[in-house]
Amino acid sequence: MTTPAPAAALTRALALYRDVHAHPELSGEEVRTAHAFARTLGESGLRVVGGVGGHGVVGTLDNGPGPTVLVRAELDALPLQEDTGLDYASTATSSGGRPVMHACGHDLHLAALAGAADTLARDRSGWRGRLVVVGQPAEETLEGAAAMVADGLLDVTGPLDAVLAQHSVPLPAGMVAHGGGPVLAGSATLAVTVRGRGGHAASPHLTVDPAVVAASIVLQLQTVVSRAASPSEPVIVNVGRLHVDSPPNVVADVATLEVTVRAVAETTLVRLVERVRAIVHAQCASAGCPAEPLVVEVARSPVTQPDAGVTATVRDAHVRHLGAQRVTWWPPSLATEDVAHLTAGGAPLGYWMLGAVGPAAWAAAPGTSALEKLTSLPANHSPRYAPDAPRALAAGVDALVVAVRALASA
Ligand SMILES: [Zn+2]
Ligand SMILES: [Zn+2]
Repeated sequence: MTTPAPAAALTRALALYRDVHAHPELSGEEVRTAHAFARTLGESGLRVVGGVGGHGVVGTLDNGPGPTVLVRAELDALPLQEDTGLDYASTATSSGGRPVMHACGHDLHLAALAGAADTLARDRSGWRGRLVVVGQPAEETLEGAAAMVADGLLDVTGPLDAVLAQHSVPLPAGMVAHGGGPVLAGSATLAVTVRGRGGHAASPHLTVDPAVVAASIVLQLQTVVSRAASPSEPVIVNVGRLHVDSPPNVVADVATLEVTVRAVAETTLVRLVERVRAIVHAQCASAGCPAEPLVVEVARSPVTQPDAGVTATVRDAHVRHLGAQRVTWWPPSLATEDVAHLTAGGAPLGYWMLGAVGPAAWAAAPGTSALEKLTSLPANHSPRYAPDAPRALAAGVDALVVAVRALASA
């Protein structure tokens, strides 16, 4: 076992982590975060370009001929009021006055990537080629990766031989977890408008009540998971927003719903989205709506499906350098993200989960099995999500450094 990251790189990474954690910014507003990340990469000797696909940052480090490996971390945070009690907890607000918090661990990913880039820049033995470091904006809105590609990211980087990313999860800090297949779901978010016919609540026979139609859609959508999807395949259909806005004595004209559909295979996702559309149209038709419903896909993310060969290479390297007891498997999760857009040029993806829970918090969580403990530990997107930054960062930096060296060995 070796620990490739020198103490100085870890100290600098921890300082960046605390700074970014205390000053989170929402998707699309990552000005300060991008600047802090770019400055750190520049201090490590990387060539840095900013403003790619919004506030995206691209750092490049050339080390002779060899493969090009892109490693990505995210810049953005979430509209949550932090409730961790940490002395560096966020008190920041967005441009619209909303509280903001790094509740997904993107600050950890950024700091680990900066620490890995610093380590690889200062010790160029053991790897060759081109390291591309990406600070991606707007991941939480699933827009940033595609925006960076559309803005010419791959022209800046040249052809890629691998794309790598890691994501913090509530596993013990110091551990990493790889998937044996897809690790995260693909998703489609649909905005549905049911167009009824409003009127006086005393004359329901003269109206087509969109509230009743919308309610029937919610119930009928439950059959997509229970009847249209294979029991062996994890899928989700969730109605997160259902809105009808009229006084109790009025039948509204319209009702709106926002629906998320998720699956771990693209073909399944496409099929289930079609089922959702069919149900919406059928319910509106059977109620006699005077106009067709509107079903607009407002967001889409691809399935996060790591390449088997890259996973085998990186996992072996993690076992060798971190120790087998710190490397585990990760079952498919119905969480989603957009990193797969960065593989648009055909590069294989490497992706693993990074444990973030400190030993005291893990021991204090009730239960003995990981599943029991996970039910009570604050997870990503919780206002109480508080990674054990020193431990998680040390593992996160090491995991990236050994992965790059394994894929770009000299
Ligand atoms: Zn998130
Ligand atoms: Zn995230």
